[in-house]
Amino acid sequence: MIFLTENQEQTKLKPMENKTLLDIANEYGSPIYVYDAHKIESQYNRLTSAFSKVKQLKINYAVKALSNISVLKFITNLGAGLDTVSIQEVKLGLAAGCKPENIIYTPNGVSYEEIEEVAKLGVQINIDNLSILELFGTQHPDIPVCIRINPHVMAGGNTNISVGHIDSKFGISIHQTPHILRIVENTGMHVNGIHMHTGSDILDIDVFLYASEILFETAKQFKDLEFIDFGSGFKVPYKEGDIETNIEEFGTKLTKRFKTFCKNYGRDITLAFEPGKFLVSESGCFLAKVNAIKQTTSTVFAQIDTGFNHLIRPMLYGSQHQIYNLSSPEGRQRFYSVVGYICETDTFANNRRISEISQGNILAFRNAGAYCFTMASNYNSRLRPAEVLWYNDKAHLIRKRETFDDLLSNQNIIELT
Ligand SMILES: *Cc1c(COP(=O)(O)O)cnc(C)c1O
Repeated sequence: MIFLTENQEQTKLKPMENKTLLDIANEYGSPIYVYDAHKIESQYNRLTSAFSKVKQLKINYAVKALSNISVLKFITNLGAGLDTVSIQEVKLGLAAGCKPENIIYTPNGVSYEEIEEVAKLGVQINIDNLSILELFGTQHPDIPVCIRINPHVMAGGNTNISVGHIDSKFGISIHQTPHILRIVENTGMHVNGIHMHTGSDILDIDVFLYASEILFETAKQFKDLEFIDFGSGFKVPYKEGDIETNIEEFGTKLTKRFKTFCKNYGRDITLAFEPGKFLVSESGCFLAKVNAIKQTTSTVFAQIDTGFNHLIRPMLYGSQHQIYNLSSPEGRQRFYSVVGYICETDTFANNRRISEISQGNILAFRNAGAYCFTMASNYNSRLRPAEVLWYNDKAHLIRKRETFDDLLSNQNIIELT
């Protein structure tokens, strides 16, 4: 049972098994994304347990990680709100049945008109630009807004794990706080939240806590806060030996600090997070079929019926997704380079040990829940895959595989004379 993990307590749902995955591939074809609702729920419970001592906790799931509306419905039913970055994500959330007041909108570089339109829907607006803040505050002083701060904390000098470079396009610099305060005073607008999203992997809890201190410093200058949003950046393991954020330790430490803040602030406010990857990454499996084995002078390639059009993370971020041979999990281990069918290099794995692969076998990619389907495209005029949610011991088809008609549907064929 390679897909089973330790965190199975606390949920009513039973985890998905490998046999189930094969059945799904047989029934719905490949390539296909499969998500295990049980795993999403156990991750959600893990996070809320870690912060169970916080009086008011709000988890807003980052829609961009995996935006299928059945998944949004499942996650909001667990009690989560939604974190969105576009008006389309807001509308998907509403279509999934989420109430507007449970949605936060954190755009970057979008038009002022879009921000206004989202505000009209009753969604919490999060602004990360001084000029937009001033404009919005002048025109809508009655609509409360959250402000996204950039705390400029560098962790260990590595830009990959840094939380908001000085030259980052995200957030309003901590050094511009006096400017924010002036705009708030001049417009009479109402700031109900302070936010940061570091975009980093929280490996070093102390670095995150240090950034939080800066956020607290800023927050206490605003008198009407209802919440402080600490963004996300929870790391999940992708391959064996990967470090994972110690959520439990993090929860204990931040809770303690947050309680002190509330005491000094004079009342309890809400502690918010907006995890994407943490909630859905490990729930997902991507299944692809082996079209051919190709032996060259140096390498054995397993060529599969997909490519970076369906799963771009290995090519875009160099991420390593574990790959299993579902059809023959106990076979002799051999070295394979797993590649796609795109007419460009699309290597999923280089000389990876996988149990012996034959043509027609189904391979499973782990951690295919976050930033996988949502980044899929039609490159090479291939159809995007189907999606299945394993929920209550049943496979539910939550997105049909595209058809050739979908490729044509928005195209007009012009008359050529
Ligand atoms: C992408 C994003 C998140 C989610 O990040 P994860 O690493 O997937 O948890 C949260 N908040 C904002 C504003 C984002 O843009």
